[in-house]
Amino acid sequence: MTERCDTHCHLYLEEFAEDLPAVLARAKEACIGKILVPGIDVETSRQALALSCEHPGWLYAAVGIHPNYANQVGLEQIEAIETLLMAKTGNIKAVGEIGLDYYRTWASHEDQLFVFQHMLGLAAKYKLPVCIHIREAEGDVIKALDQWTSELVKSNNILAKLPGVCHSYSGSPEIARFALDHHFLLGISGSVTFKNAQNLRDRLAEIGIKHLITETDSPYLAPHPNRGRRNEPALVNCVLEEIARLFEMDVDQAAKITTQNAQNLFNWNGY
Ligand SMILES: [Zn+2]
Repeated sequence: MTERCDTHCHLYLEEFAEDLPAVLARAKEACIGKILVPGIDVETSRQALALSCEHPGWLYAAVGIHPNYANQVGLEQIEAIETLLMAKTGNIKAVGEIGLDYYRTWASHEDQLFVFQHMLGLAAKYKLPVCIHIREAEGDVIKALDQWTSELVKSNNILAKLPGVCHSYSGSPEIARFALDHHFLLGISGSVTFKNAQNLRDRLAEIGIKHLITETDSPYLAPHPNRGRRNEPALVNCVLEEIARLFEMDVDQAAKITTQNAQNLFNWNGY
């Protein structure tokens, strides 16, 4: 079976505290060969890095501060993320999860933008792709990323060729247009399997499989028919099955393409 990957899951959350070894064993059995664990604040970024060190060559980390945890974040926390990046273990493959979330009001827009800009700055400095969270903030995310990517181009930063992924893409035409114009990939989660996601499926058929990577966003967004239950990396296969159906290919072929896309973005074995 072709190797598959889960490019976004939060395995350090308490939902996995009791049975992580069993969750990982099922992922291995399901041929999930690469798993990227993004942090949501300083502490969980450290935990993501620790997990990647326990499972080298299989689990990898992204470090960053999620917009929902941006409330009153100061420079010390930004510097703590940078300290993790400076260690350059080779296990950190991205800056994430970062972005803007105007749906939840846990942090002011101002605080979210402060953190987002700093995280984008770190990604450029350490030449690591970004994992972007967008919820009801398409306009401001596009504005920030547009400015960031034009600076990458101006400074000849290699990241400009493949700057990141818009994680758990939900079908927004503005995001798709921006992503394709600026060489971002789109992360496809279990929401693609939901009955009410026809708009998303139609949009993906237009976008094309070469721009897609697979993810679960575990423990959230469990695919149909597990919707509402805890999600886990092995279930990325349900996402792949849906992608294979959409593009009329077999699952192995869909796995081969999306796994290669993820390899191009995260360069798993390189430094
Ligand atoms: Zn997430």
